[in-house]
Amino acid sequence: MKRPKILIIYTGGTIGMIENPDTHALQPFNFDHLMDNVPKVKKLDYEIGNFQFNPPIDSSNMDPSHWRDIALTIEEKYDLYDGFVVLHGTDTMAFTASALSFMLENLSKPVIITGSQLPIGEVRTDGEENLITALQVAAAIDEKGRPRVQEVAILFENYLWRGNRATKMSADNFNAFKSFNYPQLAEIGLDIEYNTPYLRQVPPRPLKVCTDMDSNVMFLELNPGMTEQTLDYLLHTPGIKGIVLKTYGAGNTPTHPWFIKCIKKAVDRGVST
Ligand code: ASP
Repeated sequence: MKRPKILIIYTGGTIGMIENPDTHALQPFNFDHLMDNVPKVKKLDYEIGNFQFNPPIDSSNMDPSHWRDIALTIEEKYDLYDGFVVLHGTDTMAFTASALSFMLENLSKPVIITGSQLPIGEVRTDGEENLITALQVAAAIDEKGRPRVQEVAILFENYLWRGNRATKMSADNFNAFKSFNYPQLAEIGLDIEYNTPYLRQVPPRPLKVCTDMDSNVMFLELNPGMTEQTLDYLLHTPGIKGIVLKTYGAGNTPTHPWFIKCIKKAVDRGVST
């Protein structure tokens, strides 16, 4: 059996942070610190490569240029590795997972994103287990030797979720992620139980990486207190090309004439809603 080859892309986040003794604030630390705290990784007997953000960042600072860096790293190393593990802060992990799932077209290898609620150096850390399980999922193959997971997924505590269906739902529970509209891809207990019918299966095609992202798209969540003045002002944001409206229920919006007028004026100016 050949040793699985996994690339760890370390972007930052709580998992690799240490406490500043003077301020007691958590600060990102380097990849070696991370690996020193998980000596058990050696027991997996995998060939592990790494790529680290320099400096590692808190995921609140993630933006599309970082997604591009991750996607291009995966593209560059795609043929050299069996799978990829991305270490990332939890706060924007679901955004990155979703963006990567669209950037990495024809992906047929695992891209497993994980992090932790407690830094890896803490006694009760969840980081060690998350990292080890993420590596195992990234290395897992089926009876025909194909990767079990051929998509971007978030691994956190007891579950593996589809990347573009997951959301962070807790700032302190170890099971920090959930998908409200897609079942878990795997459940992590004594064994890793894959939910095979729900895993993406793709015919082998060359990976195509799309890194063009347009940030001139606004996400607008409706709320009952929204006024005509606020809405009109937001819809006049300079350079805006499109707006994604987060509406109520099954897609309902207010029917007030002022609301419809504001949206119509934006559409007439060429803004897509
Ligand atoms: N603030 C941190 C981040 O998102 C939280 C975490 O890593 O879980 O990078």
